[in-house]
Amino acid sequence: MGNERLEHFYKCLRKSRALFQSTCCLHPDASRATCNGRSRAHTIQRSAILEAIARHGHVGQLVPATERESGPGAYRYALVGINEATTFPGICNRHDSELFRPVETKPLTFAGEQVFLLGYRALLRECYTKRQAVQTVALLGAYLDRHPELKDELSDDYVEWTRLGNEHGYEDLMHHKTIYDDCWRHGNFEEIRFVAFLYDRATPILNASAFGPEYDFDGNSLQNLGDLTFVQDLITYCIWSVNGRGVALLAWHESSDKKCVPFVESLLRQPRQRLSAWLTSMAFEHSENLVFAPGWWEALSRSNRLLLENRMRGGLPSSELRRPHYLRDDGHTAISAKISRILRQPASFQL
Ligand SMILES: [Zn+2]
Repeated sequence: MGNERLEHFYKCLRKSRALFQSTCCLHPDASRATCNGRSRAHTIQRSAILEAIARHGHVGQLVPATERESGPGAYRYALVGINEATTFPGICNRHDSELFRPVETKPLTFAGEQVFLLGYRALLRECYTKRQAVQTVALLGAYLDRHPELKDELSDDYVEWTRLGNEHGYEDLMHHKTIYDDCWRHGNFEEIRFVAFLYDRATPILNASAFGPEYDFDGNSLQNLGDLTFVQDLITYCIWSVNGRGVALLAWHESSDKKCVPFVESLLRQPRQRLSAWLTSMAFEHSENLVFAPGWWEALSRSNRLLLENRMRGGLPSSELRRPHYLRDDGHTAISAKISRILRQPASFQL
């Protein structure tokens, strides 16, 4: 596409995204009778946890840069108010308060229900985001149908492949949501596996995300995310805080053992002194729902910033496909906190 057409194309995309900032409720018991109140639910607890890394009520985030500034797929540093940071309008106020009370009002003790809820909330956000993406692409396709002068081979392919990928991704996420909904209904929290990496101090980064592991940390293929013929296994990844110290928590339902166990086992085989660096890289690689202390980011060297910004581009349609060793240590020195303890549930992954 020529520059003018490309600009118009992205303008349409931005417009359609804005249209679909719609609210809904993804609680398993959502209904007209039970839902109450619009919400912009925080995926990371505002009080205490977000506030601990904020400066004057703001946290740092890498947000998509405008195409005019830097081309597609680029990110820029921005300050975001903690009332807005990590929120999504995908669960009503009443259900948000009720569902997440055990993890909002009590310190994290790694009780089964708490670990489940942290992952569940990250999953609900992914479901909301993907639902929005499906609607956006449908609208964009309809827009291009009405404006055939904007159509060419590239935009047709882009819309079609994005539609297929998003629809399949959404179906996969809803498959996992059904499993998590059932766990919640029946209190089956023992079906959740996790490994928690406890830091020796506070971390400047917080994150709540869910993704399908593609390769393990040694570069072995786990699942092909481009294969639309089967349901991808899913892992949730949160960087949280417990008693003022950071914790990186990888959790999944036992139905995703096949890919998640080798993924996590390969991480546990990496050198202990570099684990916190690997965990940071993975957060930037696999999460857009990631915030950090502004002072930490501003003090990073240019090379460390570039390495983390490059991670944010990983997996985007505008980037190259991920290569087997994409999770390999890139040598960044952005994080000084070390891993002091590792908890697993079950204690061994010999499942
Ligand atoms: Zn509701």
